[in-house]
Amino acid sequence: MKNIIFLGAPGSGKGTHTNMLVNQFGYITISTGDLLRNITAGNTELGQKIKNIMVSGELVSDEIMLELIEKELESIEGKPFILDGFPRNLAQAEALSTLLGKKNIDYQAIYLDVLENTCKERIVGRLVCKCGKPYNLFTPDLRPKKDGICDVCGSALIKRDDDNEESFKKRYEVFIKNTEPIKVYYEELGKLKIIDANQTETRTRNDIHEEIIGVIND
Ligand code: ADP
Ligand code: ZN
Repeated sequence: MKNIIFLGAPGSGKGTHTNMLVNQFGYITISTGDLLRNITAGNTELGQKIKNIMVSGELVSDEIMLELIEKELESIEGKPFILDGFPRNLAQAEALSTLLGKKNIDYQAIYLDVLENTCKERIVGRLVCKCGKPYNLFTPDLRPKKDGICDVCGSALIKRDDDNEESFKKRYEVFIKNTEPIKVYYEELGKLKIIDANQTETRTRNDIHEEIIGVIND
């Protein structure tokens, strides 16, 4: 099983597919967004600073992110992982290569390609749970059975502060600007696979999941 670096716009389905792969194969998730939200929950000065950046849709500094990611990679002790939300710019991609290279860790970068409008709808309707199960109020099969409660673990569902149209717009813009160079970078290394992750009547979430499995078993 290959380690995975998921690339994709906010709302492209990184979290959803990560959740499916974790349930099926037992990957460890490293989600930088979740790591940051843990810090912002602490009500410290740093937490407040990070929270403001996240709501604005801008990126948290590479310095903070690299320290976080280095610590996480250390703590998983070589178990198979999925990176969700990192790298987010070329400098992070290069620093990650150095980190993984030192540890002799191989990976596959997978870009989930989804139309902007679809991403926007998913983000605006999204609810999240701390167990990782994603929900969406606009998608019938992703609504919770009981309003506001997680089907899996019973916790209260959360609406993220940055899951509104305004934050999405900025996040999407930041994403497009920074991700093109990352795609080129992994393409040149021969590590990039682009997957059409738009769902249609003939292409379900599960079809996309199967395609991802094909890539990591390759
Ligand atoms: P999404 O992919 O839905 O936009 P995330 O939970 O991955 O959401 O990230 C939320 C916010 O956390 C980002 O908008 C950004 O401010 C910050 N963030 C997450 N990962 C990184 C990263 N690798 N570098 C810089 N900032 C990050
Ligand atoms: Zn839950």
